[in-house]
Amino acid sequence: LLQVNDLVKTFGSGDAETRVLRGLSLRMDKGELSALLGPSGSGKSTLLTILGTLMQPTSGGHVMLGVDLTTANDRALTEFRNRHIGFVFQFHNLLPDFTALENVIFPTAVREGRETAAARARGRDLLGRMGLADRVDFPSTNLSGGQKQRVAVARALMNSPELVLADEPTGNLDRASAIQVMELIGQINRDEGTTFLISTHDEKIAATCRRQIVVGDGVVTG
Ligand code: ATP
Ligand code: MG
Repeated sequence: LLQVNDLVKTFGSGDAETRVLRGLSLRMDKGELSALLGPSGSGKSTLLTILGTLMQPTSGGHVMLGVDLTTANDRALTEFRNRHIGFVFQFHNLLPDFTALENVIFPTAVREGRETAAARARGRDLLGRMGLADRVDFPSTNLSGGQKQRVAVARALMNSPELVLADEPTGNLDRASAIQVMELIGQINRDEGTTFLISTHDEKIAATCRRQIVVGDGVVTG
């Protein structure tokens, strides 16, 4: 699914230069459920941002689904990202005045310029699978942290992406909610074959994934 080759990312220049990724290579197969571990500042978020085509590396690159994303232009990248990649962040970024369902279908509706019945049905189905059937029409502000994060997972899955990149999706949750979110992600992984790369500080959470990828000193160390 994904081949990362010799990725280098530096921020700043001269004395202030920080080399965050120092020739990182990684391969992910379709259907993987992988945790991304590493100390704070090791470059997990930087890697996820680059893999999500939201930032260009300084050198090196990655190929996903046979498409070389290093050389693609901005328009091609946006289209690729919308079709094939879903994102979940630590802070769910839900729209507070919208219901759970509206949050899930909103990005798709904006992109397509309309809200279809099919999209609503897909959104309802995903919320149901996240255990939120009875919260579909709840304003997102009235949901608990774990429920909000499950809405964020449903939103990331809306377009059936091949790859979901999640940056500390359980970072804000207590252990029980964190485990629940991971179990639901695991179910989607099994049922739909969606590939997940999930950064976390928490080794217990990482242990719920089939593979653990550890970054340190800007490369994969384990
Ligand atoms: P955490 O576990 O704390 O989330 P992380 O592994 O996600 O850490 P990154 O956020 O990728 O780490 O940051 C890696 C390093 O790159 C840090 O030293 C950070 O300060 C630096 N960095 C990240 N983004 C930028 C930026 N836009 N400009 C300058 N430095 C940056
Ligand atoms: Mg981070």
